Amino acid sequence: MELWFKEIDESESGLTFRVKKVLFTKQTPYQRLDVFETEFYGNVLVLDGAVQITEKDEFVYHEMLAHVPLYTHPAPKNVLVIGGGDGGTVREAVKHADVEHVDLVEIDETVIEVSRTYFPEVSRELDNPKLTILLMDGIEYVKSKKAHYDVILIDSTDPVGPAEGLISAAFYRDAADALKDNGVMAVQAESPFFYPGWVRKICQNLKTAFPVVKLYLSFTPTYPGGMWTFGFASKGLDPVEDFDPSRVPSDADFRYYTPGLHRAAFQLPAFAEELCGQNTPRIRVGKSRH
Ligand code: SAM
Repeated sequence: MELWFKEIDESESGLTFRVKKVLFTKQTPYQRLDVFETEFYGNVLVLDGAVQITEKDEFVYHEMLAHVPLYTHPAPKNVLVIGGGDGGTVREAVKHADVEHVDLVEIDETVIEVSRTYFPEVSRELDNPKLTILLMDGIEYVKSKKAHYDVILIDSTDPVGPAEGLISAAFYRDAADALKDNGVMAVQAESPFFYPGWVRKICQNLKTAFPVVKLYLSFTPTYPGGMWTFGFASKGLDPVEDFDPSRVPSDADFRYYTPGLHRAAFQLPAFAEELCGQNTPRIRVGKSRH
């Protein structure tokens, strides 16, 4: 008898893969947490039915969430990660020689425990001496910090449940206050195909708190539709104009991020540009076919 996992998005479409073994299942105070062993993707972490990380493709998302802002900032010393209890974003942040301290604010301790057990490659820096782990709500935490961080990374689940407030204008304003003047932030900003409403809302709300807001892309096979966006936000630094590729070590151990891709990721398809108002006015010539 074969066992298949099915993630259904917008109740009309989905992703499925064969499961070799159910390794862990628990209803935590915040979410349903499952870990599956699979043939094709390795171990897979699922929260409330949505794939969060797989051993096979997690590097894409974690490298792009971390390195675009961290290489845009000229000298990132103090970093905050909200969510990200699996440790993948922390693993990427501590690769930067400039980084002196990382605070990880994760609301659900079970995610950290499970990642340590079933995702050793992802969680391997969770005992790094530069890291402080705080088990609390990131929405509350940022209110306590003023002009403290150089980079903030929001590595959250979909904006429902405990993560709903992590895309609010109020939260983004608190995050802006927690950043230093030349601080930058990057947020997980959802699928432009499956959740355009969330992408649009994230952009709109970021713009209430930051003068520079730009979407960028990556491609993760196990996220709905594959095409995924991140929201870059800053008080002035531009992620392309102010990016100095010479800061990226030629021997950097990245499997997805490259200096060329750092720039190219901000080249959006027209429909995605429109979601974030990044588009240039288009003059329609002749009768549109649609
Ligand atoms: N990188 C994967 C992704 O793109 O979805 C995984 C993200 S990570 C597993 C998302 C984490 O955000 C979860 O561990 C969840 O517990 C945490 N989280 C959700 N809401 C939160 C909040 N308000 N404060 C802190 N952590 C939160």
